[in-house]
Amino acid sequence: EKTSHVQEEKQELLEKDRQYLWHHISPHNENPIIFEKGQGSRVTDIDGNEYLDAMSGLWCVNVGHGRETIAEAAMMQMKKLGYVPLSNSHAPAVNLAEALNDWLVEDYRFFFSNSGSDANEVAFKMARQYHQQKGTYGKYKILSRYRAYHGNSMGAMGATGQASRKLKYEPAGEGFKHVPPPYCYRCPFGKEPNSCSLECASAIENMIEWEGEASVAAVIVEPVITGGGMIVPPDGYLQELRAICDRHDVLLIVDEVICGFGRSGEPFGHRNFDVIPDIVTMAKGITSAYAPLSATAVRQEIYEVFKQKEATSHFRHVNTFGGNPVSCAVALENLAIIEEEKLVEEASDMGAFLAEELSVLWEFPVVGDIRTFGLMAGIELVEDRESKTPLAVEKMNQLLAFCREKGVIAGKNGDTVPGFQNVLTLAPPFIITKDEIRQILAVFKEALAGVTA
Ligand code: PMP
Repeated sequence: EKTSHVQEEKQELLEKDRQYLWHHISPHNENPIIFEKGQGSRVTDIDGNEYLDAMSGLWCVNVGHGRETIAEAAMMQMKKLGYVPLSNSHAPAVNLAEALNDWLVEDYRFFFSNSGSDANEVAFKMARQYHQQKGTYGKYKILSRYRAYHGNSMGAMGATGQASRKLKYEPAGEGFKHVPPPYCYRCPFGKEPNSCSLECASAIENMIEWEGEASVAAVIVEPVITGGGMIVPPDGYLQELRAICDRHDVLLIVDEVICGFGRSGEPFGHRNFDVIPDIVTMAKGITSAYAPLSATAVRQEIYEVFKQKEATSHFRHVNTFGGNPVSCAVALENLAIIEEEKLVEEASDMGAFLAEELSVLWEFPVVGDIRTFGLMAGIELVEDRESKTPLAVEKMNQLLAFCREKGVIAGKNGDTVPGFQNVLTLAPPFIITKDEIRQILAVFKEALAGVTA
């Protein structure tokens, strides 16, 4: 009888879902899985089926599901003070800003918003205003790479370099330009890894010169391109980009929305490359997605430029929910968990284990490339290794559906419009166990055998 009650409830929810809910990104998903609860690396649907959440939702539930102490921190703060705007102050925001500063190498100042897109919009507006205040007028262009994802709003979409995210929504904001990505497997410059001259980095300097140094405000990059298909740059790329930005008085914005807070095996992704960004944007892992929050961290020298006397010299940007006390309290508890349980080290260790285990997948001819970075992996699938033709999207969908049926939620990333949605991705919670990783790999092997046949 209990089962029939659940079935009734599920049918009712599905009917209402079909009538009222507009799902994100998926094309009119008529049969969504209705999830009910989560614990550790696993989520459970309304029928009681368990899945390994091998993508941590959208690369974000880093400390895993079902954290009681985060729930308690949220409840305590909500009871005490649910909201005041950040034109004044509150303890959770102050304490969080201080805690975040400890995650970075130099001293930064923090502006709180709600989402990764928001954090990037703030970074772009700050970069433009910074140059105006400093007297380097006319520097407004923002450069980024093709295949990058930086968000959904007009500016962040402008910086996004994936045609599939923009088609039918353009034009985005003015002044966003793209350079080819540092994509060694399909080098846009026709070079081979380890024997090139980092043409992918020089392309950015060329663009700055061709566009006119006097018109370029900032470059935004992720330490590795994640959602655009796990594109890991060659050695020296980010360091060279830092030098290029210095040569041309261009700010370096590093988007750590995914790579931040241990995902890369280091506190922040850029720390793998020993560069100091001018601006760092962060979201997702800041609360492990238990509450919406993001931050734009700016080097103190940049902040100083906003302290001039005219009426328009401060940053005139407001965001009602940004830095909400409950979200900040959640972030503080999330960061405390990461520290107490040494989860950055854990992510690094599990990432190394995952990278090792993944090498068994080379036996499948559809595997074109395997790229890992911290606790993230992208397996680029191709019709055959010779032509490198991307595996057809339908086959990718079948493969993911198979994995889901076997209880593993993996991801598919790239850019659909040119037909590159062929990177199978993994970014499990930091608390994933070796056994769970082996389980994922066993399912992948079965799935890939199915595609090959
Ligand atoms: N930057 C990167 C690198 C991202 O992956 C994302 C989200 N996937 C964003 C920005 C935008 O974040 P949000 O969805 O929170 O706006």
